[in-house]
Amino acid sequence: MKNHILIVGAGLCGTLLAIRMAQRGYRVSLHEKRPDMRSTDIAAGRSINLALSNRGLKALRLAGLEKDIIKECIPMNGRMLHFETGELRLSKYSGREGEYINSVSRGGLNISLINKAEAMDNINIVFNSNCLSVDLEKASAVFQDADTKKKTEVNADIVIGTDGAGSAVRRSLMARTTQLLFNYSQDFLRHGYKELSIPPTEDGRYRIEKNALHIWPRGTYMIIALPNLDGSFTVTMFNPYDGENGFNALDTKPKVQAFFEEKFADILPHAPTLLEDYFANPTGNLGTIKCYPWQAFGKTLIMGDAAHAIVPFYGQGMNASFEDIVVFDEVLDQHEGNWEKVFTTFQDIRAKDTNAIADLAVDNFYEMRDGVTNPDFIKKRSLEMQLEQNFPEYYSKYSLVTFNENLSYSQAKEKGRKQDEFLLDFCANNPIENIDLKEVFQMIKKELS
Ligand SMILES: Cc1cc2nc3c(=O)[nH]c(=O)nc-3n(C[C@H](O)[C@H](O)[C@H](O)COP(=O)(O)OP(=O)(O)OC[C@H]3O[C@@H](n4cnc5c(N)ncnc54)[C@H](O)[C@@H]3O)c2cc1C
Repeated sequence: MKNHILIVGAGLCGTLLAIRMAQRGYRVSLHEKRPDMRSTDIAAGRSINLALSNRGLKALRLAGLEKDIIKECIPMNGRMLHFETGELRLSKYSGREGEYINSVSRGGLNISLINKAEAMDNINIVFNSNCLSVDLEKASAVFQDADTKKKTEVNADIVIGTDGAGSAVRRSLMARTTQLLFNYSQDFLRHGYKELSIPPTEDGRYRIEKNALHIWPRGTYMIIALPNLDGSFTVTMFNPYDGENGFNALDTKPKVQAFFEEKFADILPHAPTLLEDYFANPTGNLGTIKCYPWQAFGKTLIMGDAAHAIVPFYGQGMNASFEDIVVFDEVLDQHEGNWEKVFTTFQDIRAKDTNAIADLAVDNFYEMRDGVTNPDFIKKRSLEMQLEQNFPEYYSKYSLVTFNENLSYSQAKEKGRKQDEFLLDFCANNPIENIDLKEVFQMIKKELS
C-alpha cells in the first residue's frame, strides 16, 4: 500500500478525491465535521440542487462513476426566461445537439459518493469529526468529536483540505502568512441568496417546464429555479441586502407578498409555501475567495472551495472542484512519489484557471440578472446559436466554459471575452437577419488570431 492521505471534509470534492486516491492505491482517512448525511437530515437552505456539466462529468468518468450519477440528473437544455409581462422564452445553451447541463441533488450526489467511498477497503470515513488545526510540516491534524468533544490527533503522510469556503486547513496556512507569503482575498457581493420551493402538482407533475433552468431576470433582483427528480423545483432568490426590497427590508409577510406580486407574479400560483419558506430558510452570502499558495512544505494542500470559492452564476463551483481532481491526477501521473513537486505543479497549473472562472462567474451575475433582456444580447445569443449550428468548431463563451472540458478556464475566458466583445459590437451595429454567417465566422477567427 502507498502513502496514507488524510482528507479533511467529505463534501463533493473531498469524497470524490478520496475515491480517486484509493483507486490509485493510497490509504485514505476522510474526516467530516457534520454527521453522516445518510442518517441525518442536513439543514435545508443551501443549494439543494446544482448544475453539473462537462468538467464535473469528466472527473466522475475518471473515477468510473459518470454512468451512475447521470441517472440521478435532469437535463436542462437552456434558460427559460420569465419576463415581467408573463412572456416566456427558451434561450438554448448551445446550438449543437447534445449540449446541455444537468440538475442534480447536492445531497443525492454526495450520498452516492459516500456510499462508493465506504465500499472501498482502503478508505476510512469518520463523521462528526471537526478539524481544528493542521500541523503543516508534520502532516497531522487535530479533530474534535462533535458529541464527546474529545480531541484526537491524526497523523498521515500528507493532508489535503477539501473543507469548503470556511476551510480550517486554509486557516492553518494563513496562520503562517509571513513564512509562506500567503496571499488571501475575499470579495463579497452586496447580494445574498435564499432558497424557496415550487412543489410538484398533486399528481406529481412539474408545474413549469422540466428540462430548463428557469430565470426571472429583474435587474437588481433575480430568481432562478432548477428541477428535482420528485417533480419539484428548488428556487433561489438573489436580492441585494440593502435598499428598497432588499433582504433587510423584506421583513414581514405582507411586504414579501407585495414584492412578489409586483416583480414575480407568475411564481406565486406555483409556490404555495413561499412565505413560510422565505422566513424559515436562511439568507446566504455570496463571495469569491482567492488565495496562494495552496500548499506548504510538500505536506499540506488545499483544493476545491477551500482554495477557490466562487459565486454560483456560472454553475461551475462544484465542476471546478471536481476538475481539480482531474488535474491533480494528471500531475500525479507525472510526478508520483515526490509530493512537493506534485503540490507545487498542481497549484501553479490550477490557480490561474480557478482565478479565471472566478472572474467569469462574477461577469455572469450581471449577464443573468439584466444582460439576458438586453436587445443586443438577445441578438448576440441568436447569432451564436446559428454559428454553433453551422460551424462545429465555433463555441460561444458559455459553451467554451461549460461544454469544452478540454480547454482550460483561462483559455476559455480569454477567447470567450474577445468573441463577446466582437459580437456585441457587431450586433449593436448590424441587422442579423439574412446575414452571411460564413463571413461573420471568418471575422471572428480573424479577431482571435
Ligand atoms: C447557492 C449556490 C449554488 C451553487 N450552484 C452550483 C451549481 O449549480 N454548479 C456548481 O458546479 N457549483 C455550484 N455551487 C458551488 C458548489 O456548491 C461548491 O463549489 C462545491 O460545493 C464545492 O465543493 P467542496 O467539496 O470544495 O466544498 P463543500 O461542498 O463546501 O464541502 C466541504 C465539506 O467539508 C466539511 N467541513 C467544513 N469544515 C470542516 C472541518 N473543520 N472539519 C471537517 N470537515 C469540514 C463540510 O461539512 C463539507 O462537507 C453553488 C454554491 C452555492 C452557494
